[in-house]
Amino acid sequence: LIELRHISKSFDDTLVLDDFNLTVNQNEFITLLGPSGCGKTTTLRIVGGFETPDQGQVFFEGKDITNVPPNQRHLNTVFQKYALFPHMNVGQNIAFGLKISGKSDEYIRDKVKYALKLVNLDGYEKRKIDALSGGQQQRIAMARAIVNEPKVLLLDEPLGALDLKLRQDMEYELIRLKNELGITFIYVTHDQEEALTMSDKVVVMNGGYIQQMGTPEEIYNEPENAFVADFIGDSN
Ligand code: ATP
Repeated sequence: LIELRHISKSFDDTLVLDDFNLTVNQNEFITLLGPSGCGKTTTLRIVGGFETPDQGQVFFEGKDITNVPPNQRHLNTVFQKYALFPHMNVGQNIAFGLKISGKSDEYIRDKVKYALKLVNLDGYEKRKIDALSGGQQQRIAMARAIVNEPKVLLLDEPLGALDLKLRQDMEYELIRLKNELGITFIYVTHDQEEALTMSDKVVVMNGGYIQQMGTPEEIYNEPENAFVADFIGDSN
């Protein structure tokens, strides 16, 4: 569904991605895992179109989208700081994107209701953003991201701000959304446990390269090199 071919990217003199190649299949939950600064976010931003690679191409459904602007890629992104609009209520936040694309009020109302149901916040339309917990706000951000039925969700440490219990609940929710809606996920985290729990495929990155790519079982049981073994074994 998505393919990164020979992507290289530098910032100033630092090479962040060096001939990076990755294929993401439809309805796959793929996680980019690695220590801070290894290029996970940069990879996600290149897929989303928020960053242009110095070399290489991005393909979506077989088409070269390297130069397509983010809002025309049909990929939705949730970043760690989910930036809901505080002066709008929950329903208005979720509806925002549909409204600016000119959908009818009735269509929007139904979609918002459906999206809230999917994140287990039925009936929250009129609630104020600042009266919600961090976990609820995160769910609203997720509802906003799925309301226009994207084929792909790009998630950058979306659970980083949540406590353990909420994180576990949200992990479960994400897997449910993948199964129910058939969405393809590209997920960024530095948390080994999160990656191993949720993913179909884990991509362990370090120093701009893929150190190992495989199922959680493969990564956990058969690390291919010392970096992967140490990183997976280090639960901090
Ligand atoms: P983290 O988990 O800390 O977010 P990451 O693996 O997502 O790390 P990136 O955010 O992709 O890593 O950053 C990789 C490197 O590129 C870092 O050294 C970072 O400082 C640098 N970098 C990222 N974006 C920019 C930018 N816009 N300008 C300059 N340097 C940048």
